[in-house]
Amino acid sequence: MLDGERLRLMQYHFHTPSENRIQGRAFPLEAHFVHQNGASELAVAAMMFEPGAENPTLQPILAALPHEENHPVTLGRQIDLIPLFPQDRHYYRFSGSLTTPPCTQGLRWLVMKQPVQLSPTQLARFRRALASANNRPLQPLHGRLIVE
Ligand SMILES: [Zn+2]
Repeated sequence: MLDGERLRLMQYHFHTPSENRIQGRAFPLEAHFVHQNGASELAVAAMMFEPGAENPTLQPILAALPHEENHPVTLGRQIDLIPLFPQDRHYYRFSGSLTTPPCTQGLRWLVMKQPVQLSPTQLARFRRALASANNRPLQPLHGRLIVE
């Protein structure tokens, strides 16, 4: 639920290194959860990862990583993503765009303030799967407000 309306999770994906920065700090991995409302408007919930303890919620995702680029996979089972989110549910919010073509504007972005952890081995598997950096460079604010 966002702004009183129900949105549906359409897909999620990962960027390495992060596309967003928190107080100037980049992170080695960022997840994007892309949601859509009934009017086809998008909202993205983003989460940062930092190296630390192994993250069990990521295991089924890592196990299903495609072996070739641009080969989307179906996980074949439901994964409860709620445990992936940080305990602290505070976030930054701003208006932005898709970070990949067509870079559609007017998206609502919610970036969780608290990063979550994954083990160095898990991070290495994401990096290997993504092969090369897939982050869009940081974009100027151009007068946009970031709300906490
Ligand atoms: Zn993304």
